[in-house]
Amino acid sequence: MVEYVRGSQMDKWHWCKNCTQYPLYIYQKTTKEPPSNLCEQCKTKEYNRTCKC
Ligand SMILES: [Zn+2]
Repeated sequence: MVEYVRGSQMDKWHWCKNCTQYPLYIYQKTTKEPPSNLCEQCKTKEYNRTCKC
């Protein structure tokens, strides 16, 4: 199951642990895909299949 996390209210949602912007301190998490504000880097990683969940 994919877990989406963000480090603050202003942060984008990340789900790849190897994303360089993956938050150290998790402000919020959800297992439902957020409707907006998804991290571009995570998207790219998923597309390239280099995403580590
Ligand atoms: Zn990310």
